[in-house]
Amino acid sequence: MQPYSLSHLANHVLLHDLAALVSQDRTTTAALLAHLAEVDERRLYLPAAYSCMHACCVGELRMSEDAAFKRIQAARTAREFPAIFAALAEGALNLTSVLLLRPHLTAETAKDLLAAAAYRTNKDLELLLAERFPRPDLATFVQAIEPADAGELPAARDEGVATAQLAARLVDSNTPRARVTPLSPQRFAVQFTSDEAGHRDLVEAQALLGRAVASGDVAEVFKCALREYVRHLKRQKCSATDRPRPCSRHRASDPRHVPAAVERAVWERDGNPCTFVSDQGHRCAERSGLQLDHVIPVARGGESTERNLQLRCAPHNQHAADLAYGKGFMDENRSEARRQAAEAKAQKAVADAARARERAAAAEELAAASDVIPGLKILGCCSDDLRYAARLCAAIPDGSTDVRMHHVIKALGRANMSRLTHVARSPN
Ligand SMILES: [Zn+2]
Repeated sequence: MQPYSLSHLANHVLLHDLAALVSQDRTTTAALLAHLAEVDERRLYLPAAYSCMHACCVGELRMSEDAAFKRIQAARTAREFPAIFAALAEGALNLTSVLLLRPHLTAETAKDLLAAAAYRTNKDLELLLAERFPRPDLATFVQAIEPADAGELPAARDEGVATAQLAARLVDSNTPRARVTPLSPQRFAVQFTSDEAGHRDLVEAQALLGRAVASGDVAEVFKCALREYVRHLKRQKCSATDRPRPCSRHRASDPRHVPAAVERAVWERDGNPCTFVSDQGHRCAERSGLQLDHVIPVARGGESTERNLQLRCAPHNQHAADLAYGKGFMDENRSEARRQAAEAKAQKAVADAARARERAAAAEELAAASDVIPGLKILGCCSDDLRYAARLCAAIPDGSTDVRMHHVIKALGRANMSRLTHVARSPN
């Protein structure tokens, strides 16, 4: 049997084995860091013909540059504060949390800080560190940067991690990443790269705000813009409104239709995050892309009422459908929906291309009749007449302008053109 083919395992066995492997991985990581720290301390990479520990990890141990960087930093920190090894083995800390803690660990702070950091997510740990070690606000500035491969971008630097150099060159990604970093209680540094259109909008917003925002403060402009955008999204996604209308008494013909008042009530009742709770009592933490899910499916008589609706993330919405109708059936449905969507997309692409060809041909015909068109415009011809005239002119490309104009006016019809010919014959 293939060692990596696990399709024969029962769900509970698979989950149990996975948990055991993760636990084993933590123990291995702690032991690996201890070994790295000791090899580093004894400088055993030198006799192996490597100039530094990082080069040895990449060249000899086949680690990626980033993995080597993180592990060496964590190993050195753990060697200085050995309680970290046990915390890593237990899962109380992970590699990233050790790197976050590293700049703040001293003989005086280590015990308390390691205890406070235990079992926190990295985001929570960043908030804790911002609270205990507040940093001043960043100065606001907008800076034009070079294209991606023209050198390291200021935004790509990780102040917390990349200050120490392990090798001759910085081990860091050239890809600038957007980031939100807690600085101090209730203060966050936001950093990202905008394209030209985004920058243009920023400048325009600053100009439109004028004195409403002191000196066009970028942070304040974004705060105002985001407040409006959140309001817009809430209106769109949750039917939020300042002036709610009562629910209509008429029942909608589509049983899936959810009245705006019901949608608002469900959003207010369930809030964020997703309402799915596991058998062990763990509530899903997903806050993005929440959907209204019918507790009793519509196909089984469920109604779009507040009582029968709940907020679920998309995967848990699908999971509920899998449980209700069977995964095979739902997979077939989704596959069919994807096929139909792809077909509709292809048809739209064909229609778009045909329209584009028509527009190009019409533009070409109009260009070829450029001697006649201005005169027809003066006579008051509409755009349909102009296109028709251009097609007529294409049939007599060698005729003089007078001949072509005469031909066009005649063909456009005496009845329809009586007004035009009258205008054409009138003296100025
Ligand atoms: Zn969920």
